[in-house]
Amino acid sequence: MINCLHCGEEIFDLLRTKPPIHFSCLNPYINDLKARVDGLEETSKLYSELLYGVSNKYPDETRHETALRYIIERESKPSNAD
Ligand SMILES: [Zn+2]
Repeated sequence: MINCLHCGEEIFDLLRTKPPIHFSCLNPYINDLKARVDGLEETSKLYSELLYGVSNKYPDETRHETALRYIIERESKPSNAD
């Protein structure tokens, strides 16, 4: 007899998975992963938007490094205070 890792109840042969867990017991984990993936996709979208705001990529820098340098340079200027 194989028991579910989540609820401890028996898993019938035809529905056996590796690791042993009921599909219904797995759903909360799947939903959590989907929410995390959605969050990462949104973050990736916003990050890409920032990176592609850099139109002049410098030869020895990645687009990320150029964007970061622009932000740091701009933020460090005293005239930036509104
Ligand atoms: Zn279960």
